[in-house]
Amino acid sequence: MELPGFRIEREIGRGGMARVHLAVQNKFGRLVALKIVSADYANDTNFRKRFLRESRINAQLTHPNIVQVYDVGAHESLLYLVMEYLSGGDLNQRLDRGMRVSELIDVIKDIGKALDYAHLKGFIHRDIKPENILFREEGSAVLTDFGIARTVSRNASLTRVGTVVGTPQYMSPEQASGRELDGRSDLYSLGVVFYRMLTGDVPYQADSAVSIGIKHLQEPIPRLPHYLSAFQPMIDRMLAKKPEHRYQTGAELGGALDEVRGSATLTSTTLKSQIVTTQEIRAVGSTLLTTARDPVHASRQSRRQRRRRSLRQALSVGLLVSLIGAGSWVFVQQPQWINQLMAATGIIEDPMVQVAWNDAQSLHQDPNQSLGSIVAGYRRVLSIEPEHVAALSAIEGLAAQWKDDVLQALEQGNLAGAETKLDEFVGAFPEDPVLADLTVQLSNHQHAHSLLTTTQALLMSHGLSDIPSATAAIQAYKEVLRLAPGHDVAVAELDALAKHYSDLAGTAADAGDVDSAMNFLDRASAANAELPDLAVAREKIQQATTLQAAIAEMLQQASAYRVAGALINPAGENAAELYHSVLATDPDNVIAIQGIGEIVSQLLNLAIQLLAGGDLSEVQDLVDRASAVGLEPSAVNEIKERLDGEVLRLATVERHLGNAKVLLKDGFITEPQEGNAVSLLREVERLDPGNVTAQDLLSRSAARLAAVAQEAFDVGLSEDAKHYLELALTVMPDVETWRTLREEWEKSTATR
Ligand code: ADP
Ligand code: MG
Repeated sequence: MELPGFRIEREIGRGGMARVHLAVQNKFGRLVALKIVSADYANDTNFRKRFLRESRINAQLTHPNIVQVYDVGAHESLLYLVMEYLSGGDLNQRLDRGMRVSELIDVIKDIGKALDYAHLKGFIHRDIKPENILFREEGSAVLTDFGIARTVSRNASLTRVGTVVGTPQYMSPEQASGRELDGRSDLYSLGVVFYRMLTGDVPYQADSAVSIGIKHLQEPIPRLPHYLSAFQPMIDRMLAKKPEHRYQTGAELGGALDEVRGSATLTSTTLKSQIVTTQEIRAVGSTLLTTARDPVHASRQSRRQRRRRSLRQALSVGLLVSLIGAGSWVFVQQPQWINQLMAATGIIEDPMVQVAWNDAQSLHQDPNQSLGSIVAGYRRVLSIEPEHVAALSAIEGLAAQWKDDVLQALEQGNLAGAETKLDEFVGAFPEDPVLADLTVQLSNHQHAHSLLTTTQALLMSHGLSDIPSATAAIQAYKEVLRLAPGHDVAVAELDALAKHYSDLAGTAADAGDVDSAMNFLDRASAANAELPDLAVAREKIQQATTLQAAIAEMLQQASAYRVAGALINPAGENAAELYHSVLATDPDNVIAIQGIGEIVSQLLNLAIQLLAGGDLSEVQDLVDRASAVGLEPSAVNEIKERLDGEVLRLATVERHLGNAKVLLKDGFITEPQEGNAVSLLREVERLDPGNVTAQDLLSRSAARLAAVAQEAFDVGLSEDAKHYLELALTVMPDVETWRTLREEWEKSTATR
């Protein structure tokens, strides 16, 4: 590879779309890293434009911890970027060699500074990972590859919303779900890098982009091994799910790092980032692995639990107070047994019961009253008259209705409503046996809901084309259905996936790609095996398979015909017709195309042989059959042309012979030049070597010339005589008598 102005020394790295070379820039005599985009990309006009634009972004960044871009350009079909040469390798190589904890801190701090600077200028990197962190000779860390960076301000014109760029393991939750980003997303990714530097492993790993994305969004932040616990608070901040809970800027991160450096005792420990090591650590002590929830989430949850608990306590204390109050009041007024006795005998209705009942009823009718206070109202009735049938059934009815309401809200997907209702229910009936079940159902629905929304978002941004992602999504939706049986959105999503994949299966089957079709069908039935569309796809696969078998059989028969010499004959039982039927259903069938090609060249050879033997009519038959069985006109034409050529040749020979005869009769034997018998006969010899008539006419021509010569000699025109004799001998050099005659004439003229 040549680039004017540079002397390329050697390749130092390869990326997804470019090779990086070490080169000397002649003008300054300095070493540079020369990134040359591979031709596939460089020839794409859109890519070219984007590359040049992004390089311009790059060149605007001048910072000790960002690689310096010197120049960008295009030369002929080459597209290249000239940048500062970093000789210290990348972060992965450093980690493999082992790094001291203090060095890790330095690296994170360096990159934090670079990000602080870039973010202030309005750039987001979007692809922070160890491969993009390189080192200078003297050891400082340098951020490279602002290749997919976009300016925040011009975000809209450059990135489509919902497009994911980056590396799944290092993506922030907001990036994984395709939402708007700001600099805090880069700080999250840097947190992943830090976590990996400390433990040798990324925090979330799975076998598809979507599964990894789900983990970034939902899984708790892993615990560091015990001996690294000094870093746990930092990791928790950096990997917080919500941007507002993270360090807000690279500078803030830098401050925190300084503090850790001051306090940590292990900064001189050397860590080797090899996954084996971490797996060993994991195997050794499960205590080191106790995971905690995202701390912010955890504290929010416990706050809510605390609130719920205190509410419940307040309610039951209130109830107790009112029961004691009512009871003592009743007791003071009248011994209770008298009222009860009178009430039981139906003599009077206990007036206290009447008052309490009325109270309870009006509470019940007041839409502003909570379940707790209504139930408390009826319980006051029961405290006076424990067997009060109407109060008992009112309470029972309330409980039943409330449970129904909770279940109905759950079914309608109104989770907030269900939660409020359930909270009230807990307050009023803390001992109810179905309580546990309802609570589990609610939390299942809540989990299902969040799983559903993140899966939907991830699928939206990653697309369905990635099979592992789709598989993860199908599993996620199935989990939703397990948690919330019959969940209509999950059912619809699964149906949509099943439909999508069964359509793909159908298309693949139509194209004869049975393997892919089966694969897609597998996905489709994983999503919903009952979907009617699946039957269509199955049918198509079945057809494709049968068709393939039929084609195989036809090809075999065709090859048997060829062996038996039945290339185009007899009609209906020959190789060419069978190959054509195969091509009618499978136009790209290589074997049939090849077979036809071979038949054509065999026929051509046959035609040549037949023509040589003069069997013109057989060749004509061949041409007719060949076009009847549908051989390509171009192939048939070649035979036809040869046949026509032959017909033409024979006709020319006949015409020349006829003309030569007339010329001979008229005495035009060697003259005039433009038309005489001998030259026509020579042409016949060329067109039809060994033609007997031509030979006969030639010898007659020569004989005529010799006769003319003799006549001339006899009348004393010896010069003319010699001339004609010479001509006769030119036509037929081997006539002995004429040669002798020539010698005699030579001698006689010499003596004279
Ligand atoms: P990609 O487009 O794949 O991200 P990179 O720009 O990261 O490509 O370059 C690929 C490799 O080339 C890097 O991993 C690194 O080893 C090497 N490299 C890139 N830039 C430089 C540089 N300025 N100095 C030295 N090596 C570099
Ligand atoms: Mg890179």
